[in-house]
Amino acid sequence: MSIILEHVSYTYQPQTPYEVPALTDISLEIREGEFIGIIGHTGSGKSTLIQHFNGLLKPNSGTVEVDGLQTTAEPGTLKRIRQKVGLVFQYPEHQLFDETVYQDIAFGPVNLGLDGDQTRERVRRAMEMVRLDFAQYKDLSPFVLSGGEKRRAAIAGVLAMDPRYLILDEPTAGLDPRGRDEIMEQIRDLHRQGMAVVFVTHSMDDVARTAQRLIVVSQGKIVYNDVTGQVFAHHAELERIGLDVPHVMKLMLDLRAKGLKVRADILTVEEARREIARVLRGGDA
Ligand code: ADP
Ligand code: MG
Repeated sequence: MSIILEHVSYTYQPQTPYEVPALTDISLEIREGEFIGIIGHTGSGKSTLIQHFNGLLKPNSGTVEVDGLQTTAEPGTLKRIRQKVGLVFQYPEHQLFDETVYQDIAFGPVNLGLDGDQTRERVRRAMEMVRLDFAQYKDLSPFVLSGGEKRRAAIAGVLAMDPRYLILDEPTAGLDPRGRDEIMEQIRDLHRQGMAVVFVTHSMDDVARTAQRLIVVSQGKIVYNDVTGQVFAHHAELERIGLDVPHVMKLMLDLRAKGLKVRADILTVEEARREIARVLRGGDA
């Protein structure tokens, strides 16, 4: 089971003076249970790319297939694809509109035709996943929630569809550090529970801590698609296309530049601590 893109290209407003080629010949696969980060400059095509995963955008050329179903098939198939692939937009809380948190999260399940009890169970579970207490929050207006809580309620609305793949566009954008950490921790939890997770981010630290695989997009093309550590090994090239490396890796590179023979392919503070201790003890590579 997987999402497969083959030779996908996409242009906004094609054949007009305003046409913008946004994706060029993208091929990739997202398998069940994977945890993938997507990074790239503003305007590189990240949001356009992930909107292909659930058929919100259809390729101008190439194909997108979700568990064997093509996104260009008839509307019935597209509906099945949308259930499998949950897409959380950037600033998803802007789409909260109902009177209560419960109604907002229930919107999807109700549309699926689930009955009252099934819907309630979906809403309860989705709220649990984002750690919003059901009894405490369900009857509140979404508009009285904090920024982080609103974002979690909006994510719960997607989770209530019980997706197999969860795609998030910059899920931590605009939150304070605590809100960011909470969301990232919950996303890691969802992955631990078996969901495939793909998230777009500008935070190299979040990617380093979290993603098993990293896809780097530049000017509508995939530049790297590999195990996270392998991608950051190309730190000089990443810098050339205007991307950063995780802080902890920057530290290791600085130490190397100062003559300390530490490895630079380090992604967590704990690994860095061990590596520096090893070298200071006079350990060998
Ligand atoms: P990212 O998410 O990496 O910032 P986007 O996928 O939003 O990049 O944009 C890729 C390119 O497509 C950019 O040049 C952007 O200006 C253009 N673009 C995005 N959305 C639209 C749209 N609705 N109409 C026209 N051009 C668009
Ligand atoms: Mg974007």
